[in-house]
Amino acid sequence: MAAQIIDGKAVSAKVKEEVRQEIEREGLEVGLAVVIVGDDPASRVYVNNKKKACEVCGIKSYEYALPAETTEEELLELVDTLNADKNVNGILVQLPLPKHLNEEKVIERISPLKDVDAFHAANVGKIMIGNYAFLPCTPAGCMELIHSAGIDVSGKECVVIGRSNIVGKPMAMLLLHENGTVTVCHSRTKDLKEVCRRADILVAAVGRANFVTADMVKDGAVVIDVGINRTEDGKLCGDVKFDEVSEKASFITPVPGGVGPMTIAMLMKNTVMAKRIQG
Ligand code: NAD
Repeated sequence: MAAQIIDGKAVSAKVKEEVRQEIEREGLEVGLAVVIVGDDPASRVYVNNKKKACEVCGIKSYEYALPAETTEEELLELVDTLNADKNVNGILVQLPLPKHLNEEKVIERISPLKDVDAFHAANVGKIMIGNYAFLPCTPAGCMELIHSAGIDVSGKECVVIGRSNIVGKPMAMLLLHENGTVTVCHSRTKDLKEVCRRADILVAAVGRANFVTADMVKDGAVVIDVGINRTEDGKLCGDVKFDEVSEKASFITPVPGGVGPMTIAMLMKNTVMAKRIQG
């Protein structure tokens, strides 16, 4: 039987509406600064989408578009200014940065209280021990999608393909927090297919089009596709071979319209949380 599609657009609209209502109800003044360095077209699209989401939610957005030649010192200075700015509750530096800039150094400079991406080591550490204010937006969005489908993670075999700091590792941690039995796969994993076939919940965060095929998926599995790839003809697609996997899974997220919109919705949620923890 064909899988039910988890509609990320609908779930993200609901999350954003809840954020909007919360802001309106309490008369909160919330601001998000988005910093983009250089002119990467994909980053540009993400930044524009974040700006639009801010408008929908009633969050003031401040955009800083810096030239590709910006020095590390200049960028760190801007981060310091934003850290000190009372109107700015959340700071997001769009990654990837141009090669001459040290991403780790820049992220560590953001005040952990304004780190709405939850990439700062202090926030990562909090997530590790399960006592956090912010969750990284993409994994948090995946969890929200899993919940929206009424799936209880507890006791389930969960397999995450990918171990990046942004997606794979925190995703594994969030599944673990909800009592999943979690396996993390990566480029050195042996027998990937066999490991994936054990999964009740399979999360693909690889960055390769059509990487997950039907023979890697157990009948009735829940499949969450984080990948954002372009096919040769320029079309957007995920890591999962949707047509064949959707014949086997019980639930599946599409690309586009799955995890992508959730990432932005969770960013809005984190920005309001930032306002609250800053008092
Ligand atoms: P990354 O390149 O940092 O990590 C990819 C991971 O895949 C690595 O840990 C690597 O070990 C693993 N991998 C690579 N080849 C493999 C193989 N043959 N077998 C098993 N594992 C393999 O990427 P990332 O930042 O984690 O992003 C992953 C994908 O998710 C990308 O397509 C990215 O565009 C997308 N993404 C989407 C969102 C969203 O909002 N939907 C957000 C962030 C990233």
